[in-house]
Amino acid sequence: NRDRILQSERLNVVSELAASVSHEIRNPLTVTSGFLQLLNRSKTLTSEEKGYVEMSLQELERAEKIVSDYLSFAKPQTPFMVFSDLSAELEYTKNIIVPYASIHKVEVVFSFHNTLTTIYDRNQIQQCLINLYKNGIEAMKETGGGTLFIDISEKKQQIIISICDTGVGMSKEEISRLGKPYYSTKAEGTGLGMLMVYTTIHKLKGKIEVVSDKGKGTTFLITIPT
Ligand code: ADP
Ligand code: MG
Repeated sequence: NRDRILQSERLNVVSELAASVSHEIRNPLTVTSGFLQLLNRSKTLTSEEKGYVEMSLQELERAEKIVSDYLSFAKPQTPFMVFSDLSAELEYTKNIIVPYASIHKVEVVFSFHNTLTTIYDRNQIQQCLINLYKNGIEAMKETGGGTLFIDISEKKQQIIISICDTGVGMSKEEISRLGKPYYSTKAEGTGLGMLMVYTTIHKLKGKIEVVSDKGKGTTFLITIPT
């Protein structure tokens, strides 16, 4: 219990920090990246110089990625509370994730059969779903592709979200680390996605169950009370 209190205090500190850092940093990043792209069109650049510009753009992109992972659990500037059944969120996140999935040879199977409604922050739930989908796809990227099953349904006054992948899977030990800030096994990972997911679901008084089989795949089962 004490651990849990400590953990949630830590989350508060992280999200306060994130709120100030992300907004301040994003603008200069965008501006710099814009100027570098202009510079890159110059006909007088040598190929070596072009290489430098391209490397800078890549590094900026990485910085932007870190900021957007932070931003997702920073307090939203304008909370977007809705009373809804997640169908719009499913539709929106589907359109974002399908191109990413097909690049990595992942087929996405959606199903939605839900009529329950609850109050939630639209931006946060979208971020949360996107983070989970992304992780699933990335787990299959390593195994050369697979299928991501996304299923939203209802049961006993609860919204149930099931996200199942046929990727690399996790050991018990790895599962226990999920949601710890900066825990990542990926070269390009930030280790902030699952922190965001746990924070959001926790706020909704929901639960996250993880079932995983090393080498076979992972299922995230999320229940949100309505
Ligand atoms: P990141 O994706 O940037 O590494 P996350 O917080 O989203 O950070 O995830 C943390 C770690 O949890 C990942 O690096 C990965 O090792 C593990 N993980 C999360 N989701 C899955 C999944 N669906 N399958 C296998 N491993 C996963
Ligand atoms: Mg992630």
